[in-house]
Amino acid sequence: MTKQADDQMPIHDFPTASSVHDFARNIAEVRAKISTAAKRVGRDPAEVELLPVSKTVPGDRVRLSVAAGCLKLGENKVQEAKRKSQELADLGVNWSVIGHLQTNKARDVAAFASEFQALDNLRAAAALDRRLQAAGRSLDVYVQVNTSAEPQKYGLPPEELEAFLRELPNFSSLRVQGLMTLAIFSNDIPRVRECFVRLRTLRDQMRDIDQELIGPGGLSMGMSGDYEVAIEEGATCVRVGQAIFGARQTPDSFYWPEATFE
Ligand SMILES: *Cc1c(COP(=O)(O)O)cnc(C)c1O
Repeated sequence: MTKQADDQMPIHDFPTASSVHDFARNIAEVRAKISTAAKRVGRDPAEVELLPVSKTVPGDRVRLSVAAGCLKLGENKVQEAKRKSQELADLGVNWSVIGHLQTNKARDVAAFASEFQALDNLRAAAALDRRLQAAGRSLDVYVQVNTSAEPQKYGLPPEELEAFLRELPNFSSLRVQGLMTLAIFSNDIPRVRECFVRLRTLRDQMRDIDQELIGPGGLSMGMSGDYEVAIEEGATCVRVGQAIFGARQTPDSFYWPEATFE
């Protein structure tokens, strides 16, 4: 069953932001919820980065979000991110690519992105490193892990993570910031939480093996529907699109092939 076809999808009220004021209000609401979730588990809300995700949102509305304070934006698709980085070049936004990278797009990412959150194979690492070296740049990266054991999801299987991290120092322009994941698409909070716990546990295990393996050991996890749970489980970056920009028409299966909703 595809996610958009399932009538048991979480019902969220995500009104479309169409003015700087709307954006400021939505961002303030998300920040308040981040703060409450962090305090619930004794964490400092300042440890949690809010990464607004602007995919599918046209340039003129993205401008409003920047005016409301979004200085770094996440995009899933390289083409769309590249187009917006050009269209909005005057704004000085930092672009984070958070979706799967085809190796033939590595040159583009090396040219405009400041961060890549979905690293999950060595071919992409090598292609990025080569392009970055040529450009004299470096790139912050998160290694994406498949914590839901859904075969169609991108991300490394947990058992391959250590060997993968051990290879990364060979690509000296990549600065590993931590791990990234997408939880299972489900209304079943305990199962969603389990994915986040798995990512945190993996991070802790990697640190125990070798402090150097994982850089600062960040955890990018949580989206509009589940970021509060992710923060309770240790997220240091939450990637929030719809709760800031408004509901998206494009089904998530466009971004995660055959995404299912359980
Ligand atoms: C779209 C997207 C998000 C944000 O999803 P929302 O439901 O809009 O909050 C987070 N992470 C990734 C990888 C995405 O592609």
